[in-house]
Amino acid sequence: MSETSSVRPLAMARLDPGVTVTAELAIRTVPLLSPMGGTPGKSPTVSQGVTVTAHTQEVNIQDLERTWLDEAIRLATNSVANGGGPFGALVAKGGEIVAIGNNRVTSTLDPTAHAEVSAMRAACQELDTFSLEGCVLVTSCEPCPMCLSSALWARVDRIVFAADRDDAAVAGFDDRKFYDLFEKQPASKWPLAIERLDLPNRTAPFDAWVAKTDRIDY
Ligand SMILES: [Zn+2]
Repeated sequence: MSETSSVRPLAMARLDPGVTVTAELAIRTVPLLSPMGGTPGKSPTVSQGVTVTAHTQEVNIQDLERTWLDEAIRLATNSVANGGGPFGALVAKGGEIVAIGNNRVTSTLDPTAHAEVSAMRAACQELDTFSLEGCVLVTSCEPCPMCLSSALWARVDRIVFAADRDDAAVAGFDDRKFYDLFEKQPASKWPLAIERLDLPNRTAPFDAWVAKTDRIDY
């Protein structure tokens, strides 16, 4: 990150029944997804588009997000049947789904293969960029601290989720425990030791970065 970069606020919303709808988005086409069950991490196939007439052009953004969230929950449920963890996510931009992902921690021996990270990685490949500015991350469960940080790094505009850290805890997952570490526990009480060794050349990588005139800031 460069010194001139600023951290943009990232909106988080939990969609529950009865949420007051306030925002509207005008779009022309609402993509319909083919039935889920495609290859995890690959872009979904848009099988059909519904053209909205000029008179009904304003499609409620929250209705659209509810549809996406429903897909994320379906991905999560399918993930269990396919040997993954019970989490699903997708990235959408401009009213269309860009990429999907599901949890593949145990199947790929990758502790970072959470649904949100998988979806964001796939979306970046699909959009050929490292920035997901203008995108919405839709996930079946509240992002863990790693996924939330990843979304910040990816410059995602907004996160929408359904189940929360308490729901995940009931199923035996540590999302809430890790949030509690960040929010309530000093690092000295973490189950992980963190130590700083002060070496004289510690800033050499940053010096090289700052001196690099053709660097790509992120
Ligand atoms: Zn996560």
